[in-house]
Amino acid sequence: AAAKVVVIGGGFGGATAARALHRGGLDVTLVEVNPTYVSCPFSNEVIAGLQPMAAQRFGYEGLARAGIRVVHAAATGIDAPARRVTLADGATLAYDRLVLSPGIDLRFDAIPGYDAAAAERMPHAWKAGEQTLLLARQLAAMPEGGTVVLSVPGNPYRCPPGPYERASLIAHVLKTTKPRAKLILLDAKDTFSKQRLFQSAWKTLYPTQLEYVPLAEGGQVSAVDPDAMIVRTDFSEYKADVACIIPPQRAGRIAAIAGVADRSGWCPIDPVTFESRLVPGIHVIGDAAIAGAMPKSAFSANAQAKVCADAVIDLLAGRAPAPPKLINTCYSLVAPGYGISIAGVYHPAGGVLADVEGAGGISPVDAPMSLREQEALYAADWYRTITRQVFG
Ligand code: FAD
Repeated sequence: AAAKVVVIGGGFGGATAARALHRGGLDVTLVEVNPTYVSCPFSNEVIAGLQPMAAQRFGYEGLARAGIRVVHAAATGIDAPARRVTLADGATLAYDRLVLSPGIDLRFDAIPGYDAAAAERMPHAWKAGEQTLLLARQLAAMPEGGTVVLSVPGNPYRCPPGPYERASLIAHVLKTTKPRAKLILLDAKDTFSKQRLFQSAWKTLYPTQLEYVPLAEGGQVSAVDPDAMIVRTDFSEYKADVACIIPPQRAGRIAAIAGVADRSGWCPIDPVTFESRLVPGIHVIGDAAIAGAMPKSAFSANAQAKVCADAVIDLLAGRAPAPPKLINTCYSLVAPGYGISIAGVYHPAGGVLADVEGAGGISPVDAPMSLREQEALYAADWYRTITRQVFG
């Protein structure tokens, strides 16, 4: 009989891994708690009213059609020595190897005052779904002259350029629908992805709408009061009409249950096989993994899933997996029709995934609008292609 692989998490990482493992002839079960996946990429466009929520939702029929066994249940327990997964209803699944791609959990213990209840007033919208729609409604309903506060955590977190894309698109909404309103962008760090590109675009496009407050100027949120709609930093206090608080994160809870998360909350892995450094037989991919220089993105999760699946197939066949090369590209929209990107190439070096020196690149700071327009089209093409590949 074919070897059994269980994949937990049917997002960009897990769904891709399930397909590749199935193509490799293994007996694959994909465990995903939700019947519908809601994609985070392009959810900032939903918040800004530039994309319908329907374009973010994907079912699992495509995977089932491809012959993959999809079980809609929460995985609640993992017995690594016995190689067995327990589901919420008590059923168990035996595996020869286990792949985890559970994404992130929000750390509701990190910012005083910010818990799951507070997120109903001050959405994070960092897991797409109801939170995305809530922030979109709040933004649309905000009066002219109002203040939006958006806070960004320190590294590492899901989608490094995502908060800055969100800030840009919110500023676009303000500029076009309530030009006297303002966005205050509070950052718990001083440097960020594609910083020069974002900041030079903000200067031109949103000079009065967007105010950036880095760590050095008091950008780190120290507490929130959701009833009074106040966001506090060590330096001052902001009264918000709309507050989007993106808290620090960690690997999805099942990673800690499996024992593959370390004290950082994330999962150390072998960069060739993505096998956990803490528990043999369990592989971790996507946002949950500590993937060295690779950012936590859907593009990365998809690339890691293919490499991990090949390694699992090799290991089960008694072959040694070859060291991989992986690529990531992150597109961001600064405004409709204005795209920028950053790309990197990674390989195992010194026990981690490191940048391949001299490879990759970033959009030029001085470029004609035609290039920005083209990159916005590439972004849309990328989204169409990856979602079709993963869920189609
Ligand atoms: P996820 O996609 O989150 O999938 C995890 C899945 O596991 C979920 O479906 C969850 O329900 C399931 N799950 C978790 N625990 C269990 C359990 N115990 N039992 C059963 N199921 C479970 N990336 C890009 O590449 N490009 C972009 O433009 C981009 N834009 C973004 C914009 C925003 C606003 C945000 C927030 C993120 C963006 N990202 C982007 C990042 C991208 O969404 C993530 O990096 C990607 O989703 C990670 O994939 P994953 O498989 O690790 O996790």
